[in-house]
Amino acid sequence: MSTQSKHSAAATELDIAIIGGGSAGISLAAQLKNQSAVVIEPRTPAERDYSWALWANPHQQQQFASVAKGSWQQWRLIDHHTEVLHQTDQYSYTSLSSAEYIAQCEQQLPEGVELIRAAAEDIEATGSGGLFSAAGKSYRASQLYDSRPPAMAENGLKQHFVGWEIRTKSPISDPQIATLMDFRVDQSRGLHFIYVLPFSDRQLLIESTMISTQLEDKDWYRQAMVAWLESQDIEIEQTLREETGVIPMDTITPVDSQIACIGAASGAVRLSSGYAFSGIQAQIAKLAQGISAGDYSVPPPISPGLVRMDRIFNAVLMARPELGVSIMMRTARALDGNGFARFMLGAATIADWARVILAMPKIPFLKQVLRP
Ligand SMILES: Cc1cc2nc3c(=O)[nH]c(=O)nc-3n(C[C@H](O)[C@H](O)[C@H](O)COP(=O)(O)OP(=O)(O)OC[C@H]3O[C@@H](n4cnc5c(N)ncnc54)[C@H](O)[C@@H]3O)c2cc1C
Repeated sequence: MSTQSKHSAAATELDIAIIGGGSAGISLAAQLKNQSAVVIEPRTPAERDYSWALWANPHQQQQFASVAKGSWQQWRLIDHHTEVLHQTDQYSYTSLSSAEYIAQCEQQLPEGVELIRAAAEDIEATGSGGLFSAAGKSYRASQLYDSRPPAMAENGLKQHFVGWEIRTKSPISDPQIATLMDFRVDQSRGLHFIYVLPFSDRQLLIESTMISTQLEDKDWYRQAMVAWLESQDIEIEQTLREETGVIPMDTITPVDSQIACIGAASGAVRLSSGYAFSGIQAQIAKLAQGISAGDYSVPPPISPGLVRMDRIFNAVLMARPELGVSIMMRTARALDGNGFARFMLGAATIADWARVILAMPKIPFLKQVLRP
């Protein structure tokens, strides 16, 4: 049975169309050279105002300086027994304003690349390209890239959180230290920690973050933040905004398997940590270079070996959730600041890996490695 195309014969012809102008899509659009292209994105930057954090190398510290909300050379992980404090001279843990990053890329689109503030509809893939409509017009692109958020496995592992950006009544102590994980909270429902980024001594982002298969009621995360702030004698003067998020840490399904995916839809989220920004930046830089040389194929955002390691890590977490805190603290203790940053970036050296493997509880990992 043949289906009738919904698109008019007078579709606008393009070299490239990018569906979704989030982290991956807008970064790619901003790096295209000598292409007629569109990036289609229904939401404004202000409607996507999150903290995107990464371990930034010196080049990235300069590149993102104008959209950075804070950066830290020291960070800590804490449980009931110990605190691990890391210091780095190579990477800065940096929090970007996603709204400002996206707005900046939108303003810097090269000649020939247009932003369409609408949803892409009636998408029909044809080979590597396709037809679609947006804002009442039809388009035909020789190459389509799709960054629409993929579907998550319903009972798969996820990172989910609620966060507040707050102004405090009095100055907080140690605003130069980011708290990446404070596990001194309810661990009964999954791996749970408080994440705190002090933007100054009176303003900070606090998040109650869970790694588990089931989402909680929003008040549950809020109560955890209130209890943590009380335990630290921090009083809120004003809540500036609330941020929520659910990040897949398991197999994802792209919206349309016929279209080349970029970003999270292409598997750019680290399954063991939920971090994706650095992987997306690397993928997009390589893709943009490839396109300039006539190669339109999407580079894998994460090496298959690393994906396998992350899957083993998650399998241990699923089988033995009570080991989660100890595994994270052992990893932090085994590495110094630079090693920990490399590890989280997926750029660990053989020596970093050896230190982490030696620090792990062997039997739970071996069981998962040997599982058929
Ligand atoms: C709240 C939150 C916080 C995060 N924080 C971090 C962090 O700190 N560090 C980190 O490394 N990673 C973080 N991540 C993970 C990851 O970096 C982000 O999810 C990132 O946005 C993924 O980029 P992307 O381009 O693949 O997808 P997105 O940025 O989600 O972009 C996809 C875009 O597609 C658009 N879209 C949807 N449907 C259509 C349509 N029909 N037509 C056109 N456009 C459409 C959406 O509006 C969206 O803007 C976070 C994720 C979330 C959800």
